[in-house]
Amino acid sequence: MSGAESSSLGLASPTWRACAAAVMASCLLGCTSEPARHETAPPNPGPFARNLILISIDTLRADRLGTYGYQRETSPFLDEFASKGVVFDNARTPASWTIPAHGSMLTGLYPRAHGLRGFKDRLPSDVTTLAQRLHRAGISTIGFSNIWIIDAGRGFDRGFDQFSLTMPKLDGIGAAPKINRKAARFIAANRDGRFFVFLHYYDVHSHYRPMDLYERMFAGPYDGPADGTTEQMEKHRSGKVSLSERDVAHLSDLYDGGIRQMDAELKRFFTHLENNGVLDDTLVIITSDHGEEFLDHGLFLHGANLYEETVRVPMILRGPGVPAGRHVEAPASLVDITPTVLSLMGVAPATDVDGVDLSLAWRAPEALDAGRPFFFETDQWKPNTDELRWAILVGDQKLHVADGIEESETYDLAVDPGEQDKLARANDALRRQLDEYRAAGRKPEAALELRPEIADRLRELGYLGVDN
Ligand SMILES: [Zn+2]
Repeated sequence: MSGAESSSLGLASPTWRACAAAVMASCLLGCTSEPARHETAPPNPGPFARNLILISIDTLRADRLGTYGYQRETSPFLDEFASKGVVFDNARTPASWTIPAHGSMLTGLYPRAHGLRGFKDRLPSDVTTLAQRLHRAGISTIGFSNIWIIDAGRGFDRGFDQFSLTMPKLDGIGAAPKINRKAARFIAANRDGRFFVFLHYYDVHSHYRPMDLYERMFAGPYDGPADGTTEQMEKHRSGKVSLSERDVAHLSDLYDGGIRQMDAELKRFFTHLENNGVLDDTLVIITSDHGEEFLDHGLFLHGANLYEETVRVPMILRGPGVPAGRHVEAPASLVDITPTVLSLMGVAPATDVDGVDLSLAWRAPEALDAGRPFFFETDQWKPNTDELRWAILVGDQKLHVADGIEESETYDLAVDPGEQDKLARANDALRRQLDEYRAAGRKPEAALELRPEIADRLRELGYLGVDN
C-alpha cells in the first residue's frame, strides 16, 4: 500500500457507535446540522437492505474500469468490490451531461418526465425523488454534491434531510477525501436507524490533474501542449486549439490517473465502512452520470453527442439480496436505480417511474423485457439553442437524430460497438418510437435565471461553449 493510500479517514474506531455522539458533538468538518431523527424508523427491515449508499463518480466511462474489460489497472479496488456483487455490463445514462443525468439517477424518470433538461430548469413540484420515497419510509437521508449545478436551487435536495455541497477541487487531491469524512460522520450518527447516503464526486472530471503518484502510473514523460484543462479541450472543440495524437494519448493517460486516484480514495472509504460493519446491511450502488470522449467521434469532454463513449456508464450493485460474482448482459439505465433500490430495501414500489427493478436480472431474468427501448438526449449539442440531439436503443440497434436535421444515423452495436459505420438503411420503427418520445416533452415549471457570472462558471466546466 502506498503512502497516499495508507492515511485513514481519521474516524476509524473500534467503539464505532459509542464515539458517534462525540464525533457529532465536535462536528469539525462541515456537518450542516444534526441529522433529522425518524421516530418511526423500522430498525429491522427483514431480508432487505437496511441502508443505501449511492455513488455517482462524475464522468466515468465504463470501459476504463477493469471489471468492464480495461487492460490498465485503473480500478483494482472497484474490480475487487464488483466481484462480490453484480455488474451491469450494458448500463447507460439517458443524457450525456450532469444535470439531466442526475435527474434520472435520482428520480427514476427520463428527462422528458423529470424536466431537468437544461441549466435553467428546476425539478417540477409534482416529481417525486428517490430520497423522498426513502424518507417517507422512515429512512434518514443525506446528499453530497461535488458541483454547484447539482444544487438545492434546481431541486436536487428534495427528500434529503441534509444536502451538502462541496466545491470541486480541480487540481491534485480532489474533494473525495473531504466528502468521505463528512459521509462517515453521518453514517456513524445514523447507524441505529436506516440511512440513505448519496455521494457525488467530481474528481475524475476535467481538469485532468491527478496527484503525481497516480499520473506516473499511466503517463510517461511529456512536454507537449496538452494541459488537461477543460478550457483547452473546449477550445479544441471550437477549432482554436489543435492537438496531436500524442497529446490526446497524454490527456487519456491523465484521465486514467484520475480514475486510479478515485479508486484509491474509495478503497480507503470502504475499508473504513467494512471495518465498522456498515457493509453487512447496506446496499451499495456505484455508477456515473455519463462518460467522456477522447476524439472517439471528433470531440473531447461530453454532452455534445450521445455515442457510446459518453452514454455507457458503470453500474455495480453489492449488498443484501444481491448475488456475488455476476455480470448481467441485459441493458440497464440510470432510470432503473429508483425501482431497484425500492425493491431491494423493501420500500413500497413506485408505479410512476420509467425504470424497472433490475433485481429481476437474478430473481426472474425472463421478466426483464429484452426489447424495451432506452432513450437518450442532450441539449449541449448546440448550446444556447432549443435544438437537442436524441437517440434510442432497442436490442443492438441504436438510432441518432438531431433537431433541425432530417437524416438519422443507425448503428448495429453487435458488430459496431464504437458506432463508426453508419448503416445504409435507417431503422424506421426506431425512428417512430424516438419521435414519440421527443414529442412528449414537458415544459419546465419554472426557469432559473442564467446570470452572466453563472454563464461564466458554466463555461469553466465545459458547458455552453467558449464563444457563447
Ligand atoms: Zn457530469
